[in-house]
Amino acid sequence: MSQSKKCLLIIDMQYDFINGSLKVDEAEQIIPSIRNLINSEQMKFDLIVFTKDDHPRDHISFASNHRDKKPFSEYTYTSESNDNNNFKSLLWPDHCVVGTKGNEIHEDLLKEITDNKINGVETLVVEKGTQSNREFFSCFDDVLNEEHTDLERTLKSKNIQDVYICGLAYDYCVYNSALSSSTLGFKTFIIDNMCKKIDKNWELDNNNIEKITL
Ligand SMILES: [Zn+2]
Repeated sequence: MSQSKKCLLIIDMQYDFINGSLKVDEAEQIIPSIRNLINSEQMKFDLIVFTKDDHPRDHISFASNHRDKKPFSEYTYTSESNDNNNFKSLLWPDHCVVGTKGNEIHEDLLKEITDNKINGVETLVVEKGTQSNREFFSCFDDVLNEEHTDLERTLKSKNIQDVYICGLAYDYCVYNSALSSSTLGFKTFIIDNMCKKIDKNWELDNNNIEKITL
């Protein structure tokens, strides 16, 4: 029997989340362990995906694009086609704007990639939140589950069954990517020691997602 194929999702390791406008505490600390993981001989992945928050300046998730709203104030996204489809979240400081330094993935991780490979393993970059009017936490779907990236199709076309997830921020984009992954039928693992969260009181509590330490 062939072994199940494994993918690593490295979520949003971009400067704005590491030391920029939406800095996640202690984010820098996980960079060396993620580097070790992508170079590991024991844990060979079949695909390594880097995700990026990739916003235009007028992105709906920026408080600056709403009258009288401050960063970290509450905001509810509502579907244009279905009033009952809502998602309550927060507005953010401007972050990961296309063309800015804050949008770039940390160089310590990027320099591991040569010719779209890391030690022979194919890598790819998935961008999310590219449309002005759509907020994405998951790298598969927007928060209203109406728009989708190509990632599901890509993983299924490569016969990936197991998805391992690390990066930033644990309680937003990592967690929501894991939720989508498990809903889409992938066996889903969060690498607990390679994630950092925004809300210190948040804890992962989901039976369909396995929390592991590597
Ligand atoms: Zn964002």
